[in-house]
Amino acid sequence: MIIDCHVHLNNYAENPGRPTRDNIQALFAAMDEHHVDHAVVLTSYKANVDRPSVEHIVEELAGDPRTTVIEGLRWRDHERTDLFNLEERIRDKLVRGIKIYPGYEPYPINDPSLEAVYTIAAKHDVPVMIHCGDTYAKGAKLRYAHPLLVDDVAVDYPDVKFVICHLGNPWFQDTAQVLYKNDNVYADISGLTLGSFSVDFERYLVQRVKDMVTYMGEPGKQLMYGTDWPLVDMGSYLRFFRGLGFDDETSENIAWKTAAKLFKIDVGTGR
Ligand SMILES: [Zn+2]
Repeated sequence: MIIDCHVHLNNYAENPGRPTRDNIQALFAAMDEHHVDHAVVLTSYKANVDRPSVEHIVEELAGDPRTTVIEGLRWRDHERTDLFNLEERIRDKLVRGIKIYPGYEPYPINDPSLEAVYTIAAKHDVPVMIHCGDTYAKGAKLRYAHPLLVDDVAVDYPDVKFVICHLGNPWFQDTAQVLYKNDNVYADISGLTLGSFSVDFERYLVQRVKDMVTYMGEPGKQLMYGTDWPLVDMGSYLRFFRGLGFDDETSENIAWKTAAKLFKIDVGTGR
C-alpha cells in the first residue's frame, strides 16, 4: 500500500492551460503505473487558469476514494480564502487539511493573522501542511519558509498537527530537531528533486535523510511518503524511497500508515 501525501493538479511551465480533467487523468495513470493507492491533492495559494481553485478541484474529484483534498490557503492573493467557507468544506469533509505557503506568499507562519486558521484546524482535528525550504519560484522569500519557524507554532498550538513539507530542504538538520522535539509535527519527503534524480544528488539526499533519522529516532512515527508530482517522476521517487533502506515496519509506516491516520484516509476503499 502506498499513499502519496503530496501531489498537485496545477499546470507548470511545461503545459500551460491544460484542463484540470486532463491532469486528473494523468494523475490516475501515473498512480496505476506505479501502484500508488491513494493521493493527497494540495490546492494552490493562487487561483487562475493554471491553478484550479479548491472549489473546482473538489467538484472535479467528486469524492473519488483514491484522493484526499487539502485546501491551499490564499492569504495574499487578490481573492483571499474566506475562512467561513474553508471551515464549511472541512466540516463537510470535502477537504481534510490546510496547506499554507509561506515564502511563496510573504508572511511567516507565526503571523497573528493565522491564529484563526490554526483554531479551525484544532477544532476539526485536520493537519496543517506547511511549505518549507527551497521554493520553485525565484520571487519567493526563503526566510519565511525555514522549518525552524514550525517549532514556534507547534509550541503555541499544541492541539494542531503540522506537516513540514519537503523535509525543509535544504535545512534537514533543523527539521530533524523540530521533529525530535515536537510530537505534533510530521514531515513529508516530497519535492527533493525536479523530474528524476541524478545519481549523485540521489546519493547525497539518501545520506541527508539517514542523518536525520539517526538524530530523530523513530522516523515511522513522523515521516510520510510524498512526491510533489507532477514536478517529480513517481517511479524515480519510489526508487529513492526504497533506497533509504528502512526496515519493513518503518517503511510501511512511512509509505502509508502514518498518512492514513493523520489525514483519516479510509484505506479499505482506497482502491
Ligand atoms: Zn508541493
